[in-house]
Amino acid sequence: MAKIALITGISGQDGAYLAKFLLKKKYKIIGTVKKSSKSSYWRLERLGIKKKLTIEKMDLGNLKDIDKIFKKYDFNEVYNLAAQSFVNKSFNIPIATSNITGLGTLRILEIIKKNNRKIKFYQASSSEMFGRVLNSEQSETTPFNPQSPYAISKVFSHLITKNYRNSYKIFATSGILFNHESPLRGKEYVTRKIIIGLVKIYKKKLKSFQLGNIYAKRDLGYAKEYVVAMWKMMQKKKPKDYIISTGKTYSIKDFINLATAYLKLKTKWVGKGFNEKLILKKTNRPIITINSNLFRPSEVSALKGNSSKAKKDLKWSPKTNLKKLVKIMIDEELLHS
Ligand code: GDP
Repeated sequence: MAKIALITGISGQDGAYLAKFLLKKKYKIIGTVKKSSKSSYWRLERLGIKKKLTIEKMDLGNLKDIDKIFKKYDFNEVYNLAAQSFVNKSFNIPIATSNITGLGTLRILEIIKKNNRKIKFYQASSSEMFGRVLNSEQSETTPFNPQSPYAISKVFSHLITKNYRNSYKIFATSGILFNHESPLRGKEYVTRKIIIGLVKIYKKKLKSFQLGNIYAKRDLGYAKEYVVAMWKMMQKKKPKDYIISTGKTYSIKDFINLATAYLKLKTKWVGKGFNEKLILKKTNRPIITINSNLFRPSEVSALKGNSSKAKKDLKWSPKTNLKKLVKIMIDEELLHS
């Protein structure tokens, strides 16, 4: 019989890629989206899978709502990808963020504990949990030092997942995914914002755009590959936590330089600090400027993950380097913008 999977947050980047991957594995998929705002299904449509899924509305803030879905379907695997996942926004709405990104996980685990402890549970943990990092390279044993309400909520979810695994013998596992990007990334995230902006400039539809801290460094992988690691973790005999990362780190400025090079935009950086600008040589005008309002109240300055445990246990390793990822993102943006 086909396995039944629940993916919370199916309309997001990871939900869409995971759904596509599990469909190929012949899973029946129930995906949930939040009730409140109008959900957008452009990612599921872009991947051509919208019609192959069952979509339900479910509020992670409401225990009864979750219970209803778990009574309606006999899930084998649950992937909890839903979250208020914008770091910046979490400073403005810390309580709502904690309620969904933090307590939402506990609500699902409580329902699993009460209804059926055989259900396997995957929690989307995040490299943001390492925050102001305590080791130059982060592994599964590196202590957390979160720097935002979002990251603190993710730490809560990570630890409660571990706690339910240890206390109730539930197959509960967490993937600590480092930043993972793709053409399906939300436009609020810096990589997609940069690609959208530069492609518009390339097409002469935009003159310039603004960024915050371009010296932050991130370990940037390809989301489509990262969802495979989620599934692999769920197929192991024992539930464990795994770092999923590339092991390389680049600044936002490096990312911009790779993108302008691929688009063959001839540019130069001038100025320092808030006055730094990226100039288009042909026009001698700035195409990227820095806006101090886009800096975060508390920043995570550098992340770099060590995924050797995943490589050994899951036979998972990243295949797409940043140059190739930039090409994938730009090629698709050129097609769809
Ligand atoms: P995060 O790592 O989950 O916070 O992913 P983001 O893509 O939102 O941010 C990555 C890094 O880019 C952070 O260090 C931000 O401070 C930095 N950054 C610089 N300018 C911007 C911007 O305009 N938007 C966003 N989202 N991030 C920016």
